[in-house]
Amino acid sequence: MLSQRALQVQPSPTLALSAKAREMKQQGIDVLAFTAGEPDFDTPDFAKAAAIEAIHAGYTKYTATPGIPELREAISEKFWRDNHLRYSPDQIVVSCGAKHSIFNALMALVDPGDEVIIPSPCWVSYPEQVKLMGGVPVIAPTEESNDFAPYYDAIRELITPRTKVLMLNSPCNPTGAVYSRQTLKEIAALAIKHNFWVIADEIYEKLIYEGHSHTSIAALGSEIYERVITINGLSKSHAMTGWRIGYAAAPLKVAKAMICLQDQMTSNACSIAQYAALGALQGPAEWYDTMRQRFDARRKRMVEGLNQVPGIRCWTPLGAFYAFANVEGLKERSIDGFDFSDGDGVSAYLLEKARIAVVPGSGFCAPGYIRWSYATSEAIIEAGMDRLKSVFSS
Ligand code: PMP
Ligand code: GLU
Repeated sequence: MLSQRALQVQPSPTLALSAKAREMKQQGIDVLAFTAGEPDFDTPDFAKAAAIEAIHAGYTKYTATPGIPELREAISEKFWRDNHLRYSPDQIVVSCGAKHSIFNALMALVDPGDEVIIPSPCWVSYPEQVKLMGGVPVIAPTEESNDFAPYYDAIRELITPRTKVLMLNSPCNPTGAVYSRQTLKEIAALAIKHNFWVIADEIYEKLIYEGHSHTSIAALGSEIYERVITINGLSKSHAMTGWRIGYAAAPLKVAKAMICLQDQMTSNACSIAQYAALGALQGPAEWYDTMRQRFDARRKRMVEGLNQVPGIRCWTPLGAFYAFANVEGLKERSIDGFDFSDGDGVSAYLLEKARIAVVPGSGFCAPGYIRWSYATSEAIIEAGMDRLKSVFSS
């Protein structure tokens, strides 16, 4: 018999649907994939060159569990430069992707029965990882009409003596919301007053549009700094999803606990990928602007295309690379026997009839929505919007 843990955990729908789209393409099916939360750009040459150099230099052995000193140093400098955050290298833990960093953080903080507040719509892995710890995910709904920002009162009402952690993700996957400084201040005040931890997943920090800016909650004062684990990584900022480098920065006692856990689970992240990450962080800052401008143009095109379809309404995302479209207006319609009562039905129809792969909102705790990743080429976005229009107008 498998463990309860293994029996209960749900597979990641984002990964499953990305794999399905890839498989269909391999079979020669002309599918347009808007599933993966993965930049379509190539990893920059300055990161690749650092990895190749590392291989030739023989850096192919175990490293210290939390990462090579040069990388921890570069991350410490990045936090100061970009986020006004002082983290010394010994507060930094490099792991096999930000997903692994979040897992380590939850494992270091959450006991069975502890509650973890998650503003939703939320990334698919948060509730499942909390459940893997024996914790209880407590969903705090946000709404389009409030720019998908967490409500202070709603969060306050969910706090109990068992509240241990609040998950924050700004810019947010899947909504594209970017939380204001004021919202973050309010959350920080609650965390200080009620003494819980905040895991701030800032992996999309470099992808913010329309002049908005990123605030790290840990930078809002010394009291909140002591309660925050800041998560980031190279997957989105440098198109390095396959290299698997993420990192966490935390108060020393939490960082030490995370290192100890990682010691017994995976040891260090890949040595070569760590050198690539070092090369990436030391690379030219213009890289971010180039990438953001490309995503911004795609964002506008996609939101415009989605909003042209009667029954679909798409809030304009301010960050990340997802358009989160409300499809509740399609409820009354049904084509070829497909049930459009939620995003699952609409997504199934799109895959079957239009060969468009998207991720239904149910995995993000938002069944009335579907998520479109615009981290794909302009040509695919154009073709996708054309197909979408034609299947719903026929
Ligand atoms: N957090 C969020 C919100 C994400 O969308 C992702 C994407 N996979 C991750 C964390 C993890 O990224 P990775 O493990 O590739 O660093
Ligand atoms: N975070 C990305 C997404 O949401 C990658 C897939 C995953 O790790 O869930 O699509």
